[in-house]
Amino acid sequence: MDPVPAAARTPPPGRLLTGGRVVTPEGVLNPGWIRLAGNLIAAVGSGEATEQPPGLCTSPAVTDLSGQWVLPGFVDLHVHGGGGTSFTQGPAGDARRAAEFHRRHGSTTVVASLVTAPLADLEARAVMLARLAGEGVIAGIHLEGPFLSAARCGAQDPRHLAAPDLAAFERLHAAAEGHLHVITIAPELPGAPGLIKAAVRAGVTVAVGHTDATADVTSAAVDAGATHATHLFNGMRPLHHREPGPAGALLNRDEVTCEVIADGVHLHDAMIRLAARAAGPGRLVLITDAMAAAGMPDGSYRLGSMLVDVAGGVARLAGQGEAGTAGAIAGSTATMAGVVRNAVAAGLPVTEVAAAASTIPARVLGLGDRTGALRQGLDADLVVCDQDFRLRAVMRHGEWLDASP
Ligand SMILES: [Zn+2]
Repeated sequence: MDPVPAAARTPPPGRLLTGGRVVTPEGVLNPGWIRLAGNLIAAVGSGEATEQPPGLCTSPAVTDLSGQWVLPGFVDLHVHGGGGTSFTQGPAGDARRAAEFHRRHGSTTVVASLVTAPLADLEARAVMLARLAGEGVIAGIHLEGPFLSAARCGAQDPRHLAAPDLAAFERLHAAAEGHLHVITIAPELPGAPGLIKAAVRAGVTVAVGHTDATADVTSAAVDAGATHATHLFNGMRPLHHREPGPAGALLNRDEVTCEVIADGVHLHDAMIRLAARAAGPGRLVLITDAMAAAGMPDGSYRLGSMLVDVAGGVARLAGQGEAGTAGAIAGSTATMAGVVRNAVAAGLPVTEVAAAASTIPARVLGLGDRTGALRQGLDADLVVCDQDFRLRAVMRHGEWLDASP
């Protein structure tokens, strides 16, 4: 005889999302259903959800999502801020608000990206962000700088760029207390191969970016352990048929995941399609590279130490920047919901867009067994969009957030 009373054996009633076009790694279930248990996805299926789960004696609460797309919650690997505040400056409250802004716009997992700054400043930011990562506010830290090329620095402050330095890396890595997930490096700089190997040994994903490297130097960096591309095509030597540069080399290597900023500003739609075709469905990563101005009116903002003017939603370095850098595109004002909508409009299949916005970046972070797909056992992180891919609702860890379409 079973000593456990019947009431204790009955699982909680859970909730059911029905009628939507549910985007899973295996394809679109139309209609599909998702059963939630607490903060997890208990089951996903196609058709009408009439089946009563075993042991369930009460009906689950049902949410009808007919006519809507249901996508996995987005995972933004590269974002500096949004909603008027940033991860790159200001107190912890500002960083919390930036993360919250992006969560409400569909990014249920957010990595905080820092930009080039003096070493002591980066250390202090890493300490502060590591605390937020410990609380689950952000998923980790991305260091975009200071080991980057002056020739391709974009909106990175050229005064604080540095040659790869193992001791400096160790200090930053220690300050981040295990939460440094990604570091962007220009592989042509002296000492880069040693730093790439040290970072990989430390468990940090090495991204190639802000680089003037040749294809051969880039490929050698991949041999040394680099596995990721920071905003492919932007901030790097352009693709040329006799010198394919970093973009050609990175797309050519199966072990490299490639970020693209599909905000309608940084890349022509044809380049997004080209990258998607070349990388295939398992290697493309959609990012925002958003700065504080995301979701805000045009005006003047900061990206780290750099002044940025936003006009017509496009962020460019202000005229006060160092000679030669004024006017460079400086991050974006995008949200992941907007980037996903653009990628669909650019012609990418919706299953590939969901992989690039959620599944692949979750895998890059080592979180593929927790989030990034609508699959049994993963966190109930999901996004609901209307037929035109406008954001309608966001659920994180089983709770609906106050979405801002
Ligand atoms: Zn960036």
